[in-house]
Amino acid sequence: MKRPIIAGNWKMNMNNAETKKLIEEMAPLVADAKCEVVVCVPFTSIDTARKALRGTKIKLGAQNVHWAPKGAFTGEISADMLKELKVRYVIIGHSERRQYFGETDESVNARLKAALGAGLKAIVCIGETLAEREAGQTKDVVTRQLCGALEGIEKRDLKSIVIAYEPVWAIGTGKTATPLEANDTIRVIRKALRKLYDRTAAKAMRIQYGGSMNAKNASELMAMPEIDGGLIGGASLKAEDFAKVVNY
Ligand code: PEP
Repeated sequence: MKRPIIAGNWKMNMNNAETKKLIEEMAPLVADAKCEVVVCVPFTSIDTARKALRGTKIKLGAQNVHWAPKGAFTGEISADMLKELKVRYVIIGHSERRQYFGETDESVNARLKAALGAGLKAIVCIGETLAEREAGQTKDVVTRQLCGALEGIEKRDLKSIVIAYEPVWAIGTGKTATPLEANDTIRVIRKALRKLYDRTAAKAMRIQYGGSMNAKNASELMAMPEIDGGLIGGASLKAEDFAKVVNY
């Protein structure tokens, strides 16, 4: 039985004092969660979050990782650096990284390999833009992104990977894919996983939906058979809202 996973993506929000406060508010509200719970905080909040998360059910995550172990990459953070700070999960290939920072399927793949090599778990984001959706390219885009991200990844490493299907047009816009739309595209992703690996691996892979998921719509999205969790942006910044998603 797969354990659903709900992860908060705080993006570039929360200073250290706010991080501590939000985690202290959130932790008791998710104490009875049945699903796995993760918060992906800004790099500058990792140490504060790690301390505040002690003794809670919530796991610590980051929002990006570089592919090289060390070197002349000003402004970047390596997988070993995250591991040293007790980070468990890292988001890779978020659409905002692809859109504003030139992430490609190749760089996502390289970052994923570095994360896995250091013993981190990864949440790999894929999803089509509005233009791609309107041009009928959703299937092709998510399949290309998935295959690109997983190039050269062994089947035994899949247990450390979560895929987040996030239609770009639904992120931060208040527009959610309908549960059926999200379910259908995730089915396409699972089919691609079957081709890349096999039926068992595809079935076992946890695939989240992300894009304006919140306290109101979480239950109906999570009720869909293909949806194994959520990646939550805006609604993860308020303890009560995030807790309602977690306790969907
Ligand atoms: C995200 O950033 O991954 C996300 C899903 O954001 P939001 O929930 O705000 O749409």
